[in-house]
Amino acid sequence: MNKVAFGNRSGLSVFPVSIGAMRLPEDMIESVELIRYAIDSGLIYIDISRCYGEAELKVGRALRDGYRKKVILSTKSSPWVRKIQPSDDGSADSILRRIEESLLRLDVDCLDFYQIWSIFNEDNWNLATSKGGMLEGIKKARDRGLVRHIGITTHERPEDIMRHLPECDWMESILLSYNLMQRSYEPVITMAHELGIGTIVMNPCGGGKFAGHSPVFMKIASAVGAGSVADLAIRYVNSNPNVDTLLCGIAKKSDVADTIASVERSKFTREQIDVINQALDELSREKFCTGCKYCLPCPADIDIPAILNLVYEDRILGFRATAVDNYKNIKVKADACIKCGQCEAKCTQKISIIDELAAAHKAYNVKE
Ligand code: SF4
Ligand code: SF4
Repeated sequence: MNKVAFGNRSGLSVFPVSIGAMRLPEDMIESVELIRYAIDSGLIYIDISRCYGEAELKVGRALRDGYRKKVILSTKSSPWVRKIQPSDDGSADSILRRIEESLLRLDVDCLDFYQIWSIFNEDNWNLATSKGGMLEGIKKARDRGLVRHIGITTHERPEDIMRHLPECDWMESILLSYNLMQRSYEPVITMAHELGIGTIVMNPCGGGKFAGHSPVFMKIASAVGAGSVADLAIRYVNSNPNVDTLLCGIAKKSDVADTIASVERSKFTREQIDVINQALDELSREKFCTGCKYCLPCPADIDIPAILNLVYEDRILGFRATAVDNYKNIKVKADACIKCGQCEAKCTQKISIIDELAAAHKAYNVKE
């Protein structure tokens, strides 16, 4: 792997694959070994959160014995995702306390990045950036030498993020979801890159979905010479010249080795990306349940969009095993339908919901 600039603002450089520390093994020793294996393999940017269980403690232990100086260490928090203490209100002082706590948990003197975690909407944005808020707290920590750089992670609407970005001269990194089935942040990534903000991608494998088998995606992979659906997914993200690095959620050594192997294969050409995008457009959700929820409420309390999402994943995307697996988590199964027809009368996509639910139950209610 070759290093690339991590945006122009930070003056740092990263390898195209980085450590996502949200799925570390339970065991401390195993985690330390895995983190050090990943760092030795070239994954030098580490993304953690105060709220990823014991992740900060495990990373802190792994960074002893000279490993701290090899990495770019980043952690994050936000009171709207989870309060650590009841007094956490997003004020500058409460964020300073969180930063000091993370330094202790990580057993380091300074964080390379502190991120405002998971900005979902304008309320979050305003809370974080208003006077006396989270951003001010991180800047205070930076003035005291506790934090070197400031970043954000966000799930806000792309158009809202793009409205804010040009005003954010303090922002040195941005972490976003981007993968084969989630391409809406592509223009945000482009804009951030052009502004000199380091770009990091989370969920390059769709939260693990693209590690599964799908004949539909395997056909796309074969069309562009990718060896597997996971290889297709990683190389698709890595082929975007505006992406600086992607997070590999490390749970075992093969996660590291397989992801590195994919980025070391050639990037897709513009023509190959066009082939992939065209195939992905064909799989558009617009042609099935859009998740609009107009069919709800259901008198039998069935979460119709959730079940139809499984049908979409199976029939259109080809991930049958995922659908069967996730159907186990559906509380009210599709066979509770009393066929009242209320949902079909309101469905914006004119879906035969009653038939779809019956078929879904038959296909996915598999006894082990
Ligand atoms: S037809 Fe079935 S799924 Fe639709 S609203 Fe009635 S009970 Fe619910
Ligand atoms: S109204 Fe139709 S398209 Fe919308 S969530 Fe319900 S089933 Fe899906």
